[in-house]
Amino acid sequence: MPKTAAFQVCHGELIGARQIPSPNYNQRPKQAEIQLVVVHNISLPPSQFGGGYIEQFFQNALDWAAHPYFQTIEGMQVSAHLLILRSGEVLQFVNFNDRAWHAGRSSYLGQKECNDYSIGIELEGSDDLPFEQAQYDALSAVTACLQQAYPKIQQHLAGHSDIAPGRKTDPGPFFDWNKFRTQLHHFKNK
Ligand SMILES: [Zn+2]
Repeated sequence: MPKTAAFQVCHGELIGARQIPSPNYNQRPKQAEIQLVVVHNISLPPSQFGGGYIEQFFQNALDWAAHPYFQTIEGMQVSAHLLILRSGEVLQFVNFNDRAWHAGRSSYLGQKECNDYSIGIELEGSDDLPFEQAQYDALSAVTACLQQAYPKIQQHLAGHSDIAPGRKTDPGPFFDWNKFRTQLHHFKNK
């Protein structure tokens, strides 16, 4: 059984997460209601962990010259609401009431532009390595908390590859949806 982490949503902010504001967001459309969680993976450089490069990338503060790979993403302005590090620490970059830039061209159950109505959660990881148990624990705790705060989310959990098939592959084959759903179920039935 995962430990109960003390997460709480207050005015779009996740209490229990470290706040690292990103400038990469805008307003959600007026009629948009939060109703989907999108799970991603990211690592910079790919498949290398730590170093703080993701945080810098989401803050438009990455030194593009620091690694050859960074030149391939130079100038991109992206963000996610949350990033879960390998340690399980949760960082928040964008207030849930705002529209983070994580999904790109996308569609879920026939509804386009998932950024308008979703919350984007990045796991520090890659398509070719397993995720850490601490990340499943944090993701489950956070998702249970989000489902309470935004009831429309309920069963609407998707991977980036589900909403942008053919274009995106994350969270990838190593992300264990069964484990995530099982742990989430434990939280919801407490
Ligand atoms: Zn993604």
